[in-house]
Amino acid sequence: MTEPTAADNCIFCKIATGKIPSRKVYEDEDIFAFHDINPWAPVHFLMIPKTHIASMAHVGHEHEALLGRMLALAPRLALEQGCRPYPEGGFRIVTNTGAEGGQEVHHLHWHVMGGPRPWLRG
Ligand code: AMP
Ligand code: ZN
Repeated sequence: MTEPTAADNCIFCKIATGKIPSRKVYEDEDIFAFHDINPWAPVHFLMIPKTHIASMAHVGHEHEALLGRMLALAPRLALEQGCRPYPEGGFRIVTNTGAEGGQEVHHLHWHVMGGPRPWLRG
């Protein structure tokens, strides 16, 4: 992968580089995962690419390998964070995109949520 690019004033770029603290779940050269500050479910963490991609609407062929790696990693992190195994347990992956998609932070992120119900939302 190429060197991550950062956007000015992007909170998740700052989290990915450690300029803003977070409760880290996972990190490698290209991917960062951390607990959501306002969880909706007993397990709720966010997975982001380190490079600044504004949303899923900005994803192109050049991102296939990166997003494939993120998807393949998600089930492992979900189990490590306390989601019970499929099929009794499981998890939900959500990516809000754009204003009508409910996106508030404009750096691509996947919410990974799970754990015993009821949840606060969703
Ligand atoms: P959305 O853009 O609506 O998909 O959601 C952004 C998510 O980022 C929300 O669930 C927030 O709770 C979460 N969030 C915002 N700032 C932080 C932060 N500094 N650390 C962890 N999670 C955050
Ligand atoms: Zn960013």
